[in-house]
Amino acid sequence: MSDTIRDTVILGSGCAGLTAAIYTARANLKPLVIEGHEPGGQLSITTLVENFPGWPEGVQGPQLIENMKLQATRFGAEFRVGHLVSADLSKHPIELKVGSETIHTRTLIIASGASARWLGLPSEHALIGHGVSSCATCDGFFFTGKDIAVVGGGDSAMEEALFLTRFANKVSLLHRRDQFRASRIMLDRAIAHPKIEFHANTVIDEVMGVEQKEVTGLRTHNTVTGEESILNVSGMFLGIGHIPNAKMFEGQIDLDEDGYIKTHDYVFTRVPGVYACGDVQDRRYRQAITAAGTGCMAALEVEKYLEEHGR
Ligand code: NAP
Repeated sequence: MSDTIRDTVILGSGCAGLTAAIYTARANLKPLVIEGHEPGGQLSITTLVENFPGWPEGVQGPQLIENMKLQATRFGAEFRVGHLVSADLSKHPIELKVGSETIHTRTLIIASGASARWLGLPSEHALIGHGVSSCATCDGFFFTGKDIAVVGGGDSAMEEALFLTRFANKVSLLHRRDQFRASRIMLDRAIAHPKIEFHANTVIDEVMGVEQKEVTGLRTHNTVTGEESILNVSGMFLGIGHIPNAKMFEGQIDLDEDGYIKTHDYVFTRVPGVYACGDVQDRRYRQAITAAGTGCMAALEVEKYLEEHGR
């Protein structure tokens, strides 16, 4: 066992983790933040954030994250590049393996977030933030008056498509099958909307515009007829689900059927001293501000737990 036992370790450096870091650092708990696979979380891949309170002109996602990190560092938070290899939550103190290092901690805040599911095309990857987005709420405004595409056949895709009609001239909804997972009501709403055009059995082969650094269209094919087409759009929104980053805790804390951490009283897991906040436990709101809110709650619970346990 390492000779240092930490008061708290925070897994994840997105909005939830960094807010937890600010609060626990200010409480003099010297939190260690493990930055994870996607340092800065989903905000670090968005552009202008216009709905985070306190920024009347908006703030760039990466800037907001950088500011939060500076704020946490100022109060003594420590950051470690790396990701969790394994965790033993049954041990007291809790044992974490991060890279080749073993870390012991009295409490743990899981803020490992959820990663948007992507199609996996190299052209898609190259154009993230340049017309390819997984967040309609964040980026829809930038497509005012434009033609755009939404990919997916579930409620997220319907919700994104409906939301984007507020800005876009036309929304093409592309789904790889002709059966939809979306609830009937959401699907009917989307079908009835005059700005939404459905393209069933449609698979995207390439997002065009990599050289120009902006989406200029989509090269697609129909899975039934084999027909290839080009769809002229300026943006592509992915609505094909999110993957919560909680798999490494399977069997140790409760996960729901889609892998989100089940919490009670906002941030409590079933293991004392282990809290979860942000998108890894929130399948409903998934906003920067709600992630920050639960990050704060987790930090306050850590303080309370340590106090109750004589720290
Ligand atoms: P989902 O229901 O799992 O749907 C994902 C969709 O993306 C499916 O249509 C799937 O196609 C498609 N997809 C997945 N991987 C793909 C790929 N590689 N290429 C192309 N298409 C792909 O996910 P969700 O829509 O995010 O919803 C998740 C949960 O949240 C659901 O329970 C949903 O009801 C809930 N939700 C509710 C609301 C609401 O009520 N307002 C809003 C959003 C989400 P296939 O069908 O072919 O597999």
